[in-house]
This record gives sequence, C-alpha cells and structure tokens, in this order.
Amino acid sequence: MRLKISSVRRQAQETYLRQQRFVNDVSHELRTPLTIIRGYVDLLEACGANDPEIFKEAVTSIKTSAQNMQNLVESLLFLARADQGDQPLTKVPVDLDELIKRLVEDKNSPRVQIAKLTPCKIFGDAEFLKKMLTAFLDNALRYSPSDMPVKISLTTEDKLATLQFVDKGIGISKDDCAKIFDRFYRTDKARTKADGCENSVGLGLAVAKWIADRHDIEIDVRSKPGEGSTFTLKIPTI
Ligand code: ADP
Repeated sequence: MRLKISSVRRQAQETYLRQQRFVNDVSHELRTPLTIIRGYVDLLEACGANDPEIFKEAVTSIKTSAQNMQNLVESLLFLARADQGDQPLTKVPVDLDELIKRLVEDKNSPRVQIAKLTPCKIFGDAEFLKKMLTAFLDNALRYSPSDMPVKISLTTEDKLATLQFVDKGIGISKDDCAKIFDRFYRTDKARTKADGCENSVGLGLAVAKWIADRHDIEIDVRSKPGEGSTFTLKIPTI
C-alpha cells in the first residue's frame, strides 16, 4: 500500500514538473518574437513612420515574428489535439513519388535535388504526410549552408519504400540524435546559429514523429557534426 502511494506521488510530481517545463518552454519561445514586435512598434512610434527604411525594416521584422508565433501556436495545437486523441487521419492510397514531386515544386528552391524517385503507393493521409515530409526537408535546408544542395531519394524493395533526405550541413552529435524528436529540443548549434534559424522552435520533428508513428514509418538518423545528416524513412507500401 505504501509502495502504491509513493508511486502515485511520484507520478503526480513528474506530471507537475512536465507541465512546469512546458509552460517554461512556451513562455520562452513567445518572449523573443514579442520582444522584437514591441521594440519595432516603439521605434515606429518614435520616428519610423516618416523614415521609409526604418518603416520597411520594422514591417518585415514584425511580419516574421508574427509568422513565427503563428507556427508555434499551430504546432502546439497539433500536438495538444494529438495528445487528446483528437487528430483524425483520413487514409487513402497515396502516390508517394507524386507527393514528393509536389513538395519539391512548392519549395521552389534550386538547392533541392531529387536523386532518385521510384514510383510507389502507400496508404496514408496525404495532408499529414506532406506536413511530415516538409519538416525533414525544411530542416535539411535550414541546417546546411545556403550554397549546399539537399538530396532526396526514394527507392523501393519488398513492400518497403526507403526515403532519404541528405544534407551536408552542421550535423548532429550522437547524444543529440536521441533527443531531437523531443518537444522543444534544439541542439546548441541550432540555438546559436543565427542565419535561417530564427524560426526554429524545436517542435517540427515531434510533429513529424507523431505522423510517422501513425503510418508505421520508421525513422533512422545518421549524422556527423560538421559533415551533415541523413534522415532515412522506411515506409510500408501497398
Ligand atoms: P526546429 O524548429 O528547431 O528545426 P525540429 O523539431 O524540426 O525543430 O528539430 C529539432 C532540432 O534537431 C533542431 O533544432 C536541430 O537542432 C536538430 N536538427 C533537425 N534536423 C537537422 C538537420 N538536418 N541537421 C542538423 N540538425 C538538425
């Protein structure tokens, strides 16, 4: 009996700590864009409206910060619904190669190269799958130099598709590889690297992992700091 009470107490304590950490993470992520917006509004009030350059800079920064907050809130809502079991999937046969083609077209970046694209069909929710693929592609682009390509390849063998995102970017240490799918986890390099990481909050892979799990997709990460990363997805085909 005593054992049961202490285990209930430990669980309650863990839940409390998790909630504290969550509130702390969200507050922290919201503070930066809010500070930027506040700063630029003050600047506009003081002098900016008459200065076209300041006006332009302020509008651009406010827009980016608002977009970052919107992305954060959307990811949080997604995960909250997922936790409550309120994230229904509509699974239908999907041409994975076509989905990837569309994703690359939408991205419209000369850096994205398709190395191989074998036609294959999977059973899944196209919207959710697109969201998941976007997270991997965006990261590969974001965490590698702007003059380096990101390669995508899709092959099939024995009812299993292998999809790879290969970048030659900053890479991830072995310790970090185990944690990057945790909510709000970002490597130190991602936190401190200024270019392109302003809109990074550490939720993209948590969302991607949830979607992958709902489609029986296995994810493998191979990476070397300073050399780059390869994310491999093993996807059941139909
Ligand atoms: P974020 O919004 O920070 O990119 P994610 O959940 O998508 O959030 O990724 C979590 C962390 O994993 C990133 O902050 C980064 O540290 C690391 N990461 C993810 N993909 C890559 C990659 N291709 N190269 C290097 N680091 C990566």
